[in-house]
Amino acid sequence: MVLRLSKLFLRTLREDPADAEVASHRLLVRAGYIRRAAPGIYTWLPLGLSVLRKVERIIREEMDAIGAQEVHFPALLPKEPYEATNRWTEYGEGLFRLKDRKGGDYLLAPTHEEMFTLLVKDLYSSYKDLPLSIYQIQNKYRDEARPRAGLLRGREFIMKDSYSFDVDDAGLDASYAAHRAAYLKIFERLGLAVIPVAATAGAMGGSRSEEFLHPTEIGEDTFVRSAGGYAANVEAVTTVVPAEIDFTDAPAAEIRDTPNTPTIETLVDAANQLVPRSEADGGAWTAADTLKNVVLAVTLPTGERQIVVIGVPGDRGVDLKRVEANIGAYLPVAGEITVEAAGDEDLARNPLIVRGYLGPGMSLGAPLLGLEGAAKLLYLVDPRIVSGTSWVTGANMAGKHVFGLVAGRDFGWDGAIECTEVRAGDEAPDGSGPLETARGIEMGHIFQLGRKYAEALELKVLDQNGKQVVVTMGSYGVGVTRAVAALAEANHDDKGLIWPRSVAPADVHVVAVGRGEEIFAAAEQLSLELEAAGLDVIYDDRPKVSPGVKFGDAELVGVPTILAVGRGLVDGVVEVKDRRTGEAENVAVDKAVDFVVNAVRSN
Ligand code: ATP
Ligand code: MG
Repeated sequence: MVLRLSKLFLRTLREDPADAEVASHRLLVRAGYIRRAAPGIYTWLPLGLSVLRKVERIIREEMDAIGAQEVHFPALLPKEPYEATNRWTEYGEGLFRLKDRKGGDYLLAPTHEEMFTLLVKDLYSSYKDLPLSIYQIQNKYRDEARPRAGLLRGREFIMKDSYSFDVDDAGLDASYAAHRAAYLKIFERLGLAVIPVAATAGAMGGSRSEEFLHPTEIGEDTFVRSAGGYAANVEAVTTVVPAEIDFTDAPAAEIRDTPNTPTIETLVDAANQLVPRSEADGGAWTAADTLKNVVLAVTLPTGERQIVVIGVPGDRGVDLKRVEANIGAYLPVAGEITVEAAGDEDLARNPLIVRGYLGPGMSLGAPLLGLEGAAKLLYLVDPRIVSGTSWVTGANMAGKHVFGLVAGRDFGWDGAIECTEVRAGDEAPDGSGPLETARGIEMGHIFQLGRKYAEALELKVLDQNGKQVVVTMGSYGVGVTRAVAALAEANHDDKGLIWPRSVAPADVHVVAVGRGEEIFAAAEQLSLELEAAGLDVIYDDRPKVSPGVKFGDAELVGVPTILAVGRGLVDGVVEVKDRRTGEAENVAVDKAVDFVVNAVRSN
């Protein structure tokens, strides 16, 4: 195909869009690939659509290659299936809900587990029908709290979502492995580096789960890896739990006056003055000797606010995202939650919380968090707080702390939770060495859902013995529009986009430079020959546009090969430039088509 710029529905822009924070967003808008319709909602222009279709094709081919079959669901769905799995409420504010003229409730699907499950239930009834993997490439709708960075976090976006259905766990393992391998191939073909990292299952439920993260500074996900090959999303990192300590001979806890010590820093200073500790006893007090009790407010899917107190070693901060990902098991309802530091109002409603001096305490007559006194407050601790560890912590009285408060002897807790900041240098849980941290964008996510959805929606089949068994499922997503943005982000310079061949909107961008009719005639001819050779061609045939603007646009649009037909023509040469390396070469006109075809085929 030859796209002529004189006719192509395209306007490139000189100015960066005001709302663009990242290069991919800026350049995709400036180069005429997308236009913003509303926050997090974009219109696709011809060039953008061309890249999008290429990304989709690669994904389709790899899905088809593992035997998955394509279907297509509506985006507008009735409420009932989502009520059956409780996601109508669990999804919280992220769900676009709407009503039809009769008052019936509908939603714009944020993901499609329910519909796929029901479709299979509709049509299949025997183990002989399984395994089955089906997928779609379709719009998803999520009312994201912070639509961001153009296509990277949209409120309407395209996802490839597939679902596997198996009669037993071994089958699910195989379906999961096939998808995992297909995902690695997809990202390899796209030319997008990804690292599969262990993830928490979050609101989806289920067991094994991995995310495919593309490492980049602008990513919103932090992950860790060790030299020994461990990689995990920060939310999913598990702490190396210390051994319990025998506290038979531990001295009794003591309350001390520690006026004006509401922070860990002031507390550590006071401790070193009041109770200097000898080298033999572990040396000067540090923040790591203190137990910090942080009051958090959890907003449940129902909109209710629940206070939770988290106890952590004073040298570690609480990571709210880790709390969000891991607190589910301790809450009264499942679903999407937000966790934040408790505000003044939350604290005012809980007069037992003595600000700055909050602590657990059993033998001290102070209220024991999680039990008597503040019975309604859930008290969770970092896994490092094991039985026998001894702490300096708040005595629940203003200006007083308690020293030598022993976990398991003097205080209890409702549960342990992965909640503290993961630090570079922490040990990997599998013993594969110290962790380093990096940032990434989640490009894909695979889950072993297990039987959660099949149970809720009663998807059963007859097994070999004629017995009804619940089907086990997997769910697998790739962010298609996000992939376009991530590719743009990974492949650009200050002049514009630089697409990898696999997804470029064309193979070659022909530029007619100058005024002479013979220049346009030759450029036209070359474009047609390149097309005949099977290449996709953009041809800048605009008659009255300056060479500077044309080259600027070619660099902005980012097709990997640029063929300039201009002054050299009188000497029988044209210039072929590689947008990626910047290398340019003069090539004889009659060799130009072969030369370009070779360049396109070889890299
Ligand atoms: P995130 O953590 O980035 O919000 P998610 O975990 O909610 O993503 P999934 O439900 O796992 O996303 O969806 C599968 C894939 O869809 C993600 O891996 C991502 O590539 C893509 N995706 C999710 N949300 C968006 C969005 N708002 N805009 C663009 N792509 C998205
Ligand atoms: Mg995810």
